[in-house]
Amino acid sequence: MHCVYSARRVSPVLLVGGRIVDPSQNLDGPADLLLLDGKVAALGPEATRKADAKTERIQATGLVVCPGLIDLHVHLREPGQTAKETMATGTAAAARGGFTSVVCMPNTSPAIDNATTVALIREKAAREAQVNVYVTGAITRGIAGEELAPIGSLKQAGVVALTDDGHCVQNNEVMRRALEYAKMFDLPVMDHCQDYALVSDGVMHEGYWSAILGLRGWPAIGEEMIVARNIQLAELTGTHIHCQHLSAAGSVELIREARKRGVPISGEACPHHFTLTDATIAGSDLFWRTDGQNLLPRRNGSPLPTWPSYDTNLKMNPPLRSARDREAILEGLADGTLEIIGSDHAPHADFEKEVEFDYAPFGITGLETELSLSLMRLVHTGKLSLSDLIAKFTLGPARLLRIAKGTLNVGADADVTVFDPDREWIFQRESSASKSKNTPFHAWPLVGKPMMTVVGGKVIWREEKANGSV
Ligand SMILES: [Zn+2]
Repeated sequence: MHCVYSARRVSPVLLVGGRIVDPSQNLDGPADLLLLDGKVAALGPEATRKADAKTERIQATGLVVCPGLIDLHVHLREPGQTAKETMATGTAAAARGGFTSVVCMPNTSPAIDNATTVALIREKAAREAQVNVYVTGAITRGIAGEELAPIGSLKQAGVVALTDDGHCVQNNEVMRRALEYAKMFDLPVMDHCQDYALVSDGVMHEGYWSAILGLRGWPAIGEEMIVARNIQLAELTGTHIHCQHLSAAGSVELIREARKRGVPISGEACPHHFTLTDATIAGSDLFWRTDGQNLLPRRNGSPLPTWPSYDTNLKMNPPLRSARDREAILEGLADGTLEIIGSDHAPHADFEKEVEFDYAPFGITGLETELSLSLMRLVHTGKLSLSDLIAKFTLGPARLLRIAKGTLNVGADADVTVFDPDREWIFQRESSASKSKNTPFHAWPLVGKPMMTVVGGKVIWREEKANGSV
């Protein structure tokens, strides 16, 4: 009922010969997949048998076919900030990134803190979105951290979770009451963990490079302190708290320990935090010679991407951290402490980013590089199996949000992602479907590429035929 994508009549599709990887059924092997009337109709020999003459056959040999990926952390910028992104462009970028569902954040203008605005977003999504759009509601009115938003009516209007993302509720009493209400209405709470007093006006990770570059530091403790607070409050109230876009080693350790005790707490990681470090802000030369060594595959001496020092496409909140933090995030994903990967896709217009580092807004786009970077850093390095990675984009977010997605079970919605795990390509900012181009991964050679995105049985995006299949 929360899904705002309206199913249209679609013709039957048979995906032939792909490697089906579905963690929800422990499936990993070659099989055909039949999609009929917007649903998964059959898998394996039965799919082949059931496909009639009218069925469109799509060759998927050599490709992975998995449940449609979910990104639970996306800023679609509607309402009110359509110079940065729109429902149409943001969801087009999601489709190109292999995502069939996105969860949009409420720090819009005005904020999504009441039932009417939720209804507006859902109507707009039904008309203009290419993928399923799930809406989150604010924890507090105007995301100001003071007065609770009307949580019951937000739930009734169809939000899947509460968050003040972009901001963090500082008042522990307000947060405690929010958690108690959220529990009554059976809603998970997601938190952007930032202690304002500790972070103050920091713009990059507090450490060696902030000292060298003369930029104000955003210390790791500014995140860890709120993660620790959230663990205490989750334990007290029994409400699940999901800590968004974790960046610091200490946060991972806190969550690991709390989960062992059974505290209802979880965390998410973003590709930029497990790929880049604060050294990138000193410019590409220094990065490739330090934390960037052996990060990218070098083919025939192909040039590495370059960028200047103080590039504002490396400014995000929370900031890029040290190589040790980056390793800890990877470790947390590998051992299951962090069950979810999200992009924190945060579009900003060029004119907003083309200012001094201190003045630029925090945030980068991420939907179209997310799957590739995750494959490179986690699967191609042997830290995670393909199935375990896919779970972080499917089972993980579906369970947290309690949405009927993230599976290829017979009868499930026919949301399917097809990708080539080994295909090498170069990401170009100009080719992005997002309205904004604020990505740090321009001209990066990547390994692994989305090839086709199917929502409700309909092929909504397909890589142009370069070499045969798909
Ligand atoms: Zn955030």
